Amino acid sequence: MGIDACSRVTRAVFLDRDGVLNRNVWNPATRAYESPLTPDQFALLPNVIPALQLLRDHGYLLFLISNQPNHAKGKASMQTLDAIHGRLVALLAAGDVSFAAYYYCFHHPAFTGECVCRKPSPYFIFKARDAFGLDLEHCWMVGDRETDIACGRAAGTRTVRIGEMPASGLDVGIVASDLWSATQLITRSLRR
Ligand SMILES: [Mg+2]
Ligand SMILES: [Zn+2]
Repeated sequence: MGIDACSRVTRAVFLDRDGVLNRNVWNPATRAYESPLTPDQFALLPNVIPALQLLRDHGYLLFLISNQPNHAKGKASMQTLDAIHGRLVALLAAGDVSFAAYYYCFHHPAFTGECVCRKPSPYFIFKARDAFGLDLEHCWMVGDRETDIACGRAAGTRTVRIGEMPASGLDVGIVASDLWSATQLITRSLRR
């Protein structure tokens, strides 16, 4: 009695990268918004740093879980992907934010065959749980694609999808317009 059980929970937020932390970039060749292909193209979305600071201040560990198949597809070198990652880490450090771990899947089934780690696989969430002793029912997965939501659900976390409310019939659960809005939902749920 008298022990605050909540303070003993190890909770985390798992974050997708492209479209959640940073802008996707218009590619005229494919006529689609895609992952940045150079460090110069990598720019954080508005209010991402304050959102991450708020999660940190509420005791959430932060993890990146990102599918980055552009090397597997022959569209970028591993050195370039590494430089883009370095740019992310530098921008986070400038905002006094650090992630507990960064998990990237560099595979793509059409080019490198099946792998265990590509979202919607919950592989990296379970890896983080085992390494950090996380209570997944107190964790959240935040992403802008159905595969992100499926990944979180498969691992037993709560989920927030970033973006427009999808067409009816598609059950993606909680939707928020951006990471800042998602963070308000997550931190408010803690107070209940
Ligand atoms: Mg994304
Ligand atoms: Zn993989």
